[in-house]
Amino acid sequence: NHLPDHIREKVQNHPCYSEDAHHYFARMHVAVAPACNIQCHYCNRKYDCANESRPGVVSELYTPEQAVRKVKAVAATIPQMTVLGIAGPGDPLANPERTFATFRMLSEQAPDIKLCVSTNGLALPESVEELSKHNIDHVTITINTVDPDIGAEIYPWVFWKNQRIKGRAGAEILIEQQQRGLEMLSERGILTKINSVMIPGINDKHLVEVSKIVKGKGAFLHNVMPLIAEAEHGTFYGVMGQRGPNAEELQELQDACAGDMNMMRHCRQCRADAVGLLGEDRGAEFTLDKIEAMD
Ligand code: SF4
Ligand code: SF4
Repeated sequence: NHLPDHIREKVQNHPCYSEDAHHYFARMHVAVAPACNIQCHYCNRKYDCANESRPGVVSELYTPEQAVRKVKAVAATIPQMTVLGIAGPGDPLANPERTFATFRMLSEQAPDIKLCVSTNGLALPESVEELSKHNIDHVTITINTVDPDIGAEIYPWVFWKNQRIKGRAGAEILIEQQQRGLEMLSERGILTKINSVMIPGINDKHLVEVSKIVKGKGAFLHNVMPLIAEAEHGTFYGVMGQRGPNAEELQELQDACAGDMNMMRHCRQCRADAVGLLGEDRGAEFTLDKIEAMD
């Protein structure tokens, strides 16, 4: 186990990283970030960002003020509430005003709550400075490839400097931004977890190399998630029949990556507005109308 002690301690107390901690510490997500700056073939924009969440779910969108009210209401009801994440429904860093307004208010009004954010990485380098001002526990970057040719099969376009850049050129920009963002976070001592979506026939063989590279740049955890290909979630780049991995394939890849770094195996791909202990979702107790009624 390559983790230094101070990181190991953090991992042991975090519901998402430690199989044990997830029974005692609660986390919640708030959905404040509607826009996205890239297109993933596996995304259906009607639903939450698949970078962190189980696809096929629509979360209630909050303003930053409503989100802060919700966090306080949850913390008052669920004493184990320790971690607040922004994971969607689009890309949090493609909505910097909303995401950072939420973090700023929470840093001031609920300083004990740790914050985390997940991103596709395109806007990460320009966000690192602002992220470093908050009580950020960790940043999650979804990195599905380091090879622009593979990237072109996963990302039809990225929106970059007011232009839509398609295919390999777009994927190349995204990959560069992800890698630079990871390096900048490591330089500042901000913990970084990497998510990868395993897409059979596209990046499954390649993810072992991705795992090595991100570990070399300081990522502390790698979370390989299965592509969830459900009919109602649409198709993968318009092609019917792109399947997700089966349980053995997923485990085989996680084992192959584990030689190199800590693997996360119990991520539940929670919805962008999940509330409670891992594996439970008490979000329905804290909808907007209910929170307003609590005031
Ligand atoms: Fe969809 Fe998330 Fe990909 Fe954006 S980053 S296209 S919201 S899956
Ligand atoms: Fe934790 Fe995964 Fe759920 Fe995020 S999606 S809160 S990392 S278990």
